[in-house]
Amino acid sequence: MIFLKKAENEAISNFLIAKCIEVEDFGGLKLEDLWEIHNSIKVKEKYFDGEFKKPNLLDLKIEIARNIFKNCHFCEHRCYVNREKDRGFCKIRKSYYSSEFLHMGEERILIPSHTIFFCGCNFKCVFCQNWDISQVYFEKIPCYCHPYNPKDMAKIIERKRIYSKNVNFVGGEPTPHLLSILETLKYVNLNIPVVWNSNMYLTIEALKLLDGVVDLYLTDFKFGNNTCAERLSKVKNYFDIVKRNHIFVKEYDMIIRHLVMPNHLQCCTERIFKFIKENLDRKNILVNVMFQYRPEYKAKFYNDINRPLTYEEMDMAMELAKKYKLNLIL
Ligand code: SF4
Repeated sequence: MIFLKKAENEAISNFLIAKCIEVEDFGGLKLEDLWEIHNSIKVKEKYFDGEFKKPNLLDLKIEIARNIFKNCHFCEHRCYVNREKDRGFCKIRKSYYSSEFLHMGEERILIPSHTIFFCGCNFKCVFCQNWDISQVYFEKIPCYCHPYNPKDMAKIIERKRIYSKNVNFVGGEPTPHLLSILETLKYVNLNIPVVWNSNMYLTIEALKLLDGVVDLYLTDFKFGNNTCAERLSKVKNYFDIVKRNHIFVKEYDMIIRHLVMPNHLQCCTERIFKFIKENLDRKNILVNVMFQYRPEYKAKFYNDINRPLTYEEMDMAMELAKKYKLNLIL
């Protein structure tokens, strides 16, 4: 994984390369014209010369994200609301975060990971284990959520880089905060790989903005069909969208997490593993089969998921991982 070299400063992180790519002056252009310039550029390591251009590709991505923010389609709910004044499905307007710290509980190759927990989410998972930060926009913002300032966070990221192997944007969900995240990276001037820790319900437009910015996708692949997703996370067309998005980013380093849930071995776990085997069987993609499901938040009202996993279910999940010869993370 090239990501590991970036963590050790032996290769350059994508967002730094994007800052070295000069783009034509885009002031006053419409969104479709901004996209035209954007889509004509491909980020390659050879463009890195250590000199940040003005305007550069990252500036252009920020300008496009500002446009999308005013007609929001960062995720496939496609609310098309102006988030300066209105709220869409996620209810998020300005960005808040609950905490940032050097996380030692992520996968071994990622730690210490400087993890930034954004508040709010575009999913409403009834079993959410982070519901106290993911669902805050539906009530009053609690005192443990702080207003997010990109410049200040950039300074914190730079300060912690001495210990951290990467910066890890998570939540809740980072997708509704894409503009804030790009603005943060504008002010980060040292080499640090970017981890996108997400439910992957993004639009293609949002994925194109991340293309050439993110270094590793840390994905949360929950459901193997649309029906379970709609019932338990309140999102439509989940499986189709998340499959599409994994294929879209398959050239990147990736860790796919799957949280095994009780009674969802056939309908979800097996179908996800089969999809991975058939479409994402690559050296740069690892799979983490997770067993720490516990019935949190509203899970007690759903008979199928109102208990932890049994040992039989854990064994069955590992048998399925073997059957599909997944490239499991150690
Ligand atoms: S991030 Fe998604 S859910 Fe939130 S307003 Fe935008 S499109 Fe809607």
